[in-house]
Amino acid sequence: MPELPEVETVRRTLIELVCGKTIQAVEVKLPRIVRTPEDPQLFAALLADQTIRDIGRRGKFLTFVLDDYILVSHLRMEGRYGLYQAADPVEKHTHVIFSFTDHTELRYKDVRQFGTMDLFSHEEAFTKPPLNKLGLEPLEESFTFEAFKKVIHQRTTMIKPLLLNQAYIVGIGNIYVDESLFQAGIHPERSANSLTTNELHRLYDAIKQTLQEAVAAGGSSIKSFVNGQGEIGMFQHQFKVYGRAQQPCTNCGQPIERYVVGGRGTHICPKCQSNKSKLKK
Ligand SMILES: [Zn+2]
Repeated sequence: MPELPEVETVRRTLIELVCGKTIQAVEVKLPRIVRTPEDPQLFAALLADQTIRDIGRRGKFLTFVLDDYILVSHLRMEGRYGLYQAADPVEKHTHVIFSFTDHTELRYKDVRQFGTMDLFSHEEAFTKPPLNKLGLEPLEESFTFEAFKKVIHQRTTMIKPLLLNQAYIVGIGNIYVDESLFQAGIHPERSANSLTTNELHRLYDAIKQTLQEAVAAGGSSIKSFVNGQGEIGMFQHQFKVYGRAQQPCTNCGQPIERYVVGGRGTHICPKCQSNKSKLKK
C-alpha cells in the first residue's frame, strides 16, 4: 500500500502532468469507487468544465483542487493514475476516466477496487470525513516534538499500532513504521507510555528522517516514474528491515526477524530493538 512518501511522489508527478488542464467529461465505469456524491452521474456532471488548479495531499489522500470543488482521492492498495491520449485503448481495470479539453485523459486504474473518490465544495472538504479527523502531518512544520509527544506519551497501547493510527499521525504505514522503530532502536510492542524522553526524541527524528529520505528518493526519480503510456508507478526504496526477514541487520549482522504485531507483518532486529521487556509497564 502506498504510504506518505509514495503518495507525495504521485502528487508531485500529477502536478507536472495535469495541473492547469480543464475537464471536459468524466466517465465512471465502476460506481463504487465514487462515494460522494452517491450518484456517479452527478459526480461527472459537477466535474465538467472544472480546471485543476492544484493538487495537495493530506496524509495518504490526494486533494485535486478544482475551481469549485475538491476531489479527495485515496489509492488504497493498488490505485494508479495515468495520463493517456484520448485515442489510446482503455486498459483493463480502468474505473474512472477524466477527459480533458486538450484530448488527453487522466485514467484511474485499480485492480483491487479499494480506492475511493469524494467530491466536496471547498468549504466542506476538510470538515467532513474522510479528512476531518486526521492527525498530525509529519512533514509539516506543525509536527513539532512537543506535538508528537502530546499524542504519544500517555497512551498505554503498543507503539506500533499507535503510529499506524491515522487519527494521531497521518501517512505512516506498515513499512515506514518498521523502518522508523528500527532506526530509533525501539521494540514495536513497547507501550507508548514506557518510552523515555530520549527514546521519544529518537523516534520523532527517525520518523521525520525516514519519510524525508523516501520523499527525496521518490522525487529524484520522478521522471522514471512515468512510463511510456504516462502511467505513474511506485518507486522501490531500499529498506533496512522491511521485507528483509532472515537477512543480516545493517547495524549488527543479526538476522532480521518477521512476526505479527496487531495483525500486521512486522520486521525487527532482535538485537538492536531488544528493549521490549526492559521498560514495558
Ligand atoms: Zn541489529
